[in-house]
Amino acid sequence: MPATPFKRDVETRAIYQEPAPPVDKENPFQSMMERFDVAADLLKLDPGLYDVLRSPTRIHITSIPVVMDDGRLKVFEGYRVIHSEVLGPSKGGIRFAPDVHVDEVKALAAWMTWKCAVVGVPFGGAKGGVCCDPSEMSAGEIERLTRRYTANLLDVFGPDKDIPAPDMNTNEQVMAWLLDTYSMHARRTETAVVTGKPLLIGGSEGRREATGRGVMTTTLGAMDRLGMRPGQATVAVQGFGNVGSVAAQLLREQGCTIVAVSDVSGGYYNPKGIDVDAAIEYAAEHGRSLAGFDGAETISNEELLTLDVDVLAPCAKENQITAKNAADVKAKIVAEGANGPTTPNADEILQQNGVLVIPDILANAGGVTVSYFEWVQDRQGYFWTKDRVNRRLDRMMRAAFDRVYDAAERYDTSMRIGAYVIAIEKVAGALKMRGIYA
Ligand code: GLU
Repeated sequence: MPATPFKRDVETRAIYQEPAPPVDKENPFQSMMERFDVAADLLKLDPGLYDVLRSPTRIHITSIPVVMDDGRLKVFEGYRVIHSEVLGPSKGGIRFAPDVHVDEVKALAAWMTWKCAVVGVPFGGAKGGVCCDPSEMSAGEIERLTRRYTANLLDVFGPDKDIPAPDMNTNEQVMAWLLDTYSMHARRTETAVVTGKPLLIGGSEGRREATGRGVMTTTLGAMDRLGMRPGQATVAVQGFGNVGSVAAQLLREQGCTIVAVSDVSGGYYNPKGIDVDAAIEYAAEHGRSLAGFDGAETISNEELLTLDVDVLAPCAKENQITAKNAADVKAKIVAEGANGPTTPNADEILQQNGVLVIPDILANAGGVTVSYFEWVQDRQGYFWTKDRVNRRLDRMMRAAFDRVYDAAERYDTSMRIGAYVIAIEKVAGALKMRGIYA
């Protein structure tokens, strides 16, 4: 056996590190790194490996010129960050939002690496983003933006290289445009280049509901461990998009009482239980907004987070549970449907108060798990039934939940750190085995 090329000396890590910038707890990359650091210490991670795993493999920044409907030419900035390809081709969504920042995309790309490793999906991590305001753009403008973004990153994407998916403000239609643009250049239809696409062109049954379904499965896992019965549990869900609405619906189906839901228009509270199907129908008929929904009294998003419920599922966006409101969270379980909804400071407070947090890289990993199923189906040209997709998803999510819960117990830490420990152990192990190409 050749001697390991990596020095195992944690103390030397400081020498390799750049001087740390002031810690901004709400900067997503800093948030990610804080958790990463705790897990790396528990694992006594080699400082060289630490440096490799903290640095994204590649960062692509591209200008995207778009002819707007009024004839003006506007340039948008787009990103694709490949964090890791150690376990397989990189995987992760693309978001369109006015506040997209390269630091945020870097954090989200790293989260994808950990997420895939936690659930056991053979992908690395990536994330894309375009700084734009889709709510102010026509469908034609969004299509031209998507096509040019894809064309600019043609050499980055590929079924064996980097596989995008939907994220905030992107959907099946955007994925269809991406697939089409890539396929036109490839001179063949390449369905496996993207996941979360419409069923008609190689999408998977159950993909749209997958993230919400994973939130439900992991929440049931947590209830089991705490001896809580779904039939007696009350739930508040923040965010009523693809993740929150499905999580609410499926938890309702399991017997939980959904006492509050919310979206950007505010929160809606009904202690007797919200009719989730009616709320979904209402939002579909009112421009995807709950504004004016009358099956509940209105509350603020902030009030929703501190309701006296058994389960709180933040399924909207980053930095919602912070040092300011964490002490007021009364839920016994927090199921993170969103990426990064809890800041590191808030984590500590929740932990002290005995709240069981199912971390984002586990709770919302159902999406990428069914993305993996979609990619497998595309490559085989053989499509599964919804029942098969859901059964396999439930099995993988439940097994991942148990692994993380047990790791947290073993290391006497939170489930979040337990999840990072599992993920880092796996990616670092693979990296060591592959060695460093020189
Ligand atoms: N954007 C989703 C996430 O954050 C899905 C990514 C994927 O399916 O590749 O997990």
